[in-house]
Amino acid sequence: LTRHQFDSGRAAVVTSSGARIRRITLFRIAVPLKKEVKHASHSRTASENLVVRVELAGGQVGYGEGVPRPYVTGETVGSAFAMLRVHDWARIVGQPRDLAELVSRVAELNLPEIESDPRGMAGNAARCAVELAILDVYGRYFGEPLGKAIDLASIPGVVKRSSAVKVRYGAAITAESRRKEIRSAIKFRLYGFRDVKTKVGVAGQHDERRIAIFRKLMGPWVDLRLDANEAWPAAEVLDRVASLRRFSPSLIEQPVPHAEVRSLTALRRQLGVPVMLDESLCGYPDAVAAARYATADMLNVRLSKCGGVIPSLRIIGLAVRKGLGLQLGCHPGETAILSAAGRHLASRVEGLSYVEGSYDRHILKQNVSREDVTFGYGGWAPPLPGPGLGIQVDASAVEAMATERCELDYD
Ligand SMILES: [Mg+2]
Repeated sequence: LTRHQFDSGRAAVVTSSGARIRRITLFRIAVPLKKEVKHASHSRTASENLVVRVELAGGQVGYGEGVPRPYVTGETVGSAFAMLRVHDWARIVGQPRDLAELVSRVAELNLPEIESDPRGMAGNAARCAVELAILDVYGRYFGEPLGKAIDLASIPGVVKRSSAVKVRYGAAITAESRRKEIRSAIKFRLYGFRDVKTKVGVAGQHDERRIAIFRKLMGPWVDLRLDANEAWPAAEVLDRVASLRRFSPSLIEQPVPHAEVRSLTALRRQLGVPVMLDESLCGYPDAVAAARYATADMLNVRLSKCGGVIPSLRIIGLAVRKGLGLQLGCHPGETAILSAAGRHLASRVEGLSYVEGSYDRHILKQNVSREDVTFGYGGWAPPLPGPGLGIQVDASAVEAMATERCELDYD
């Protein structure tokens, strides 16, 4: 090998580097749901999600997902499109030489909308989608699972396992007809779940009667959590919770509207049931406030509302340092992309008392992946090996659900 051949060979490697982002496609997708999702003000049979597809110059393709919801982080799919399309992601990410370098770039990946928001959330679903797509595509490029990227992220307080373990998910009873709820409770008992969450505070429902039946049907050993989704004014919380305490709920999630979250500092001491924050826990500043004002015993971290893997790990690390308990939650309607991302996190990170998600087959009529990542008996699910998210996203399935798309070319 002459000097000339050596140099030109090396130059060829550098200039043809496949580690550069060539194209990003944003998709607005409508994910068909098996049953209607009811909200206080409306109901729907599809979940509108944001999917980001990243393609490297080397040809690898990766996917990420976010679930923008105006009533969670104030985002819509439209606002996420607007935030993501103005950035030169190829320049921001550059050409990382290895996964460690990529992880450190992803850790610095910021959106000005999030930075300038006092709650650090106005863009979290958008950031989550682009971050996951970048982690997925580079995981494939370097031949490493998303779990390895989680392992490489060094965040104070976060305790990681030396190898990925299987994950145990909980079930959720959504507020429905009496008959359907009873059927769910029986099904969950037969399916061997360790923990079950149920909504409370839904207008027109008699919670005392409902929870009494659930407890009776599922037995005393099932860990039963309540989620009020901001339903009760602070002045009513003590009475509401007192009437349900005899059914031994393990916690009450978001009992008051976010606007009244500070009332929990005092209420917590009298409730006799631990409090978990969800709607009041989106960005990092929310977690700081929860610790400072002692408004919570536990935090419900969800990848999309918290801005992706790295911001979620930062919240988890803070919670561990402040002695707060943790749940890894999910957004109803998320596809296998977010299910897989949650699996990687939950199988690598210690200290998650509850894990929600991977409901795929039970909730979605159609999914975007070739594999089915739904949990099995007892809520158990194996770690995903990778590379990247460890699932094969079916491009035609994404296209079929797409109602709007936007291409960003960096050639
Ligand atoms: Mg909740």
